Amino acid sequence: MLAEVLKSDITRLDVDAIVNAANRSLLGGGGVDGAIHRAAGPGLLEECGKFGHCDTGKAVITKAYNLPCRHVIHTPGSVWRGGGNGEAELLKSCYMSCLSLACDYELETIAFPSISTGIYGFPLREASHIAVFTVFSWNKDFPRKVIFVTFSEEATEIYREVLSRFNVR
Ligand code: ADP
Repeated sequence: MLAEVLKSDITRLDVDAIVNAANRSLLGGGGVDGAIHRAAGPGLLEECGKFGHCDTGKAVITKAYNLPCRHVIHTPGSVWRGGGNGEAELLKSCYMSCLSLACDYELETIAFPSISTGIYGFPLREASHIAVFTVFSWNKDFPRKVIFVTFSEEATEIYREVLSRFNVR
């Protein structure tokens, strides 16, 4: 698996799929979800509305409308409630569900934001471990490359450090 950390606005990336840290209604929200819907335009909301709902840790795939990428994979993140409520398992499941869709659609490159580490309050370091560990445990043919998209200096440093333990740049 090729992997890299990129500090960027995820809506600008020209990749096969970007992941949206969504909520269960799939009707848009703040943070990266709001940015993705604003950049994609109203078609995205309309398509999301057809699903009605998505459970935490699961994922759905849509077209990308006005975004430069090809698809958006929406996964409702794990809400941090102190750490003893299955939060880690649910966050891992978010990554697995997205990777599984990328595999089904034979997507080469997928870009993840740091799911759950904004409004949902998941500690950044623990979330980055789960993200990187889950991606490197994935041993199917697709995706071939994962981009961990960070939005702050702090997140960029943490992800770079965690990724360096897997001996990749
Ligand atoms: P959640 O509700 O899952 O916590 P947020 O959107 O609040 O989702 O935050 C998830 C992460 O996405 C945070 O680390 C935040 O800094 C980051 N983020 C916010 N906007 C963008 C963006 N445009 N591109 C990439 N990452 C973003």
